[in-house]
Amino acid sequence: MLQFDLGLIEKCQNNAPRYTSYPTADKFSLDYPISNHYVQLKNNLEPNKPISIYIHIPFCNTLCLYCACNKIITNDRSNIAKYLIYLEKEIKLYVALLNYKPKVIQLHFGGGSPSWMSNNEVTEIMKIINKYFDLSSAHEVSMEIDPRHTSQDFIFNLAKNGFNRISIGLQDLDPKVQKAVNRIQSLEDSQKVLVAARKCGFRSTNVDLIYGLPFQTLLGFENTIDEIIKLNPDRIALFNYAHLPNIFMPQSRICDADIPSPQVKLATLSMSVTKLTDAGYIFIGMDHFARPDDELAISYKNGTMQRNFQGYSTFADTNMLSFGVSSIGFLGSSYYQNVKDLDSYYHHLDNNHLPIMRGIMLDNDDILRKYIITEISFYLDFLLHILTHIFGIFFLLNNELNHMLD
Ligand code: SF4
Repeated sequence: MLQFDLGLIEKCQNNAPRYTSYPTADKFSLDYPISNHYVQLKNNLEPNKPISIYIHIPFCNTLCLYCACNKIITNDRSNIAKYLIYLEKEIKLYVALLNYKPKVIQLHFGGGSPSWMSNNEVTEIMKIINKYFDLSSAHEVSMEIDPRHTSQDFIFNLAKNGFNRISIGLQDLDPKVQKAVNRIQSLEDSQKVLVAARKCGFRSTNVDLIYGLPFQTLLGFENTIDEIIKLNPDRIALFNYAHLPNIFMPQSRICDADIPSPQVKLATLSMSVTKLTDAGYIFIGMDHFARPDDELAISYKNGTMQRNFQGYSTFADTNMLSFGVSSIGFLGSSYYQNVKDLDSYYHHLDNNHLPIMRGIMLDNDDILRKYIITEISFYLDFLLHILTHIFGIFFLLNNELNHMLD
C-alpha cells in the first residue's frame, strides 16, 4: 500500500520539470570544451565494448499543449528527408573519428514523433545506421510511437527493419482532457498498434500516461487505467504533469484553474499504483510499472537497472552516442548535448563540425550524487554499506561519533 507523507509533500510543493537523471541538462555548461569530447571518445569507446545510440527525430504534425520535448511542429514532410541527410553527416563525423564500426547493444528513436517518418524513411535511416554501426548483437531496437498516425503496416515495417520494442504515447482517454491538451486519440488507435506489435513478436511494449492534466478527475483517470490494464502492455510509464508555462510556451494555453489540485493528483497517483499493482504490475522506481516477466522488472529485482535521459534501462551504463538536434549522450563520466535548433544543427554539419552545444564533466562528488539519486529513484532507499564498498566512504553512527569526540 503506497503511503504519502502529506506534511513533506506540502512543505516541498512546487512544480519542476520531469526528473530524468543527475545531473539535469540545465547544469550542462556552454564552456564544455570540444577537445574534451574527442578525448572522451578515444578513452571510452573500444571496438569490443558495445554502445547505445539515441536518435532524435524532432518533427510532429500537431502540438500537444502539455509537451516539454524539443520538437518542431510542421506539416511539411520534406523536412524529414533533409534531416536524415544531416543525421548521416553527423554519424559519419563520429565514425571517421573512431575509425571502426562500433557494436551497438541498444538503439532508441525518440522525438518529436519518429513514427511520423514514412516506411521508406525508416528503412533509409536503418540502412544508414547499419552502414556505420554493427547491429548484429543489438538487443533492443525501439521507437516512440504516436498511434494517431501509425498504421499496422508501419509496425510491420519496423519489425522488418529489426525493431523489437515500441513505446506508445497515450496520456489519458478522457475526451474532455484530450480536447484541453489538443491531443485527440482513441483507444482503438493504441489497440491496433499494440496488436500489430504482438503479431510481430516485439520483445516489449510500453504505454505512457500522464496524471495532472487539465480537467482530469479521479474517476475519469480510473477508467483510463482500467482500459490500459485490458490492453496489457509489458510496461507502463505514469508521469506527473508539471505546469511550467514560463519554460514551456505551449503550456501557457492551459488554464491554471483547469489543473487538478495537488490532493486530486495524489489520489490519482495512489489509485493508479493500487490498480496496476493489483493487476500484477511491479511498481518500479518513481514512475514505471512492468509485468513481472518483463526484462525491466527482472533487472529491477536483480539490482542491475539503470536510468538515463531516456528513462529506465536494462543495460549497465553503456556509453551512449546521440544524434540529431538537442539529443543528449554520455561518454564515461561526461555528458554532452547537441544544439537545439535546426538551422544551427545544419550549419555545424555543413562545416563538418560536431553540433555540440554544451556538456559537463562529472567530478567525484557528482558521481557519488548521481549514484545515490539513482538508487533512491529506483528503490526509494540506498544502503550505506554499499557506499562504503563502492566509494570507500565510512559512516559513523551518532554514538560512535560522540565517543570519538569525547
Ligand atoms: S507530446 Fe509527442 S507528439 Fe505531442 S507535441 Fe510533444 S513530441 Fe510531439
